[in-house]
Amino acid sequence: MAHEHDHHDHDHDDHDHDHDDHDHGDDHDHDESPEARAEFERDLIRRHALAQVRQYPDVALRMKAKEVTEFDDDLVELAERMEHLMADAQGVGLAATQVGLLQRVFVFEHDEEGTKTVVNPSIVDRSGETETDSEGCLSLEGILVPVERNVKVTLEGLDASGGEVKLTLEGMNARVVQHELDHLDGILILDRTDDEHRKEALGLLRPQPALR
Ligand SMILES: [Zn+2]
Repeated sequence: MAHEHDHHDHDHDDHDHDHDDHDHGDDHDHDESPEARAEFERDLIRRHALAQVRQYPDVALRMKAKEVTEFDDDLVELAERMEHLMADAQGVGLAATQVGLLQRVFVFEHDEEGTKTVVNPSIVDRSGETETDSEGCLSLEGILVPVERNVKVTLEGLDASGGEVKLTLEGMNARVVQHELDHLDGILILDRTDDEHRKEALGLLRPQPALR
């Protein structure tokens, strides 16, 4: 799942411009502040990561993943690779199907407890209360559509070493795991939104004719 960029923290507001005394004014101003450079580098890392995430309409995104039966080093490595990829792509969740692997594994960023891996996840309880909010997806770049989700869920599964995981989640955390669990069943936010937003999203996702 993609992160929404609505809060940028600029903590350099009171940064003094010291030692500007060798600015002769005759070289071109590239406007390369440390902040702009850092932003540029983050964007490069993000693009590189996104290139490794299957993009719609890749068939892997429509396939149902299989239960994991072997808890070996490969699984631990997969979880670590997915965690890094999610962070680099600035996402808050990533499912194995999004990297072309049909295994029931996802990673997500818990907003208080940090990154978590869940293997063979299942939602064992969900609130009757639902909430509709905008969702993005690392496999649907540039798309944000309203999706209705349960406000609270209880998620059970295993970690990459086979240890039991049981999480009671609310709000954003609950939304993210419902989104990622959908991925393991080949379900995308396009299937969960209303007709109007689906049509609009599909229009944006249609390959654009190349300009020559
Ligand atoms: Zn997604």
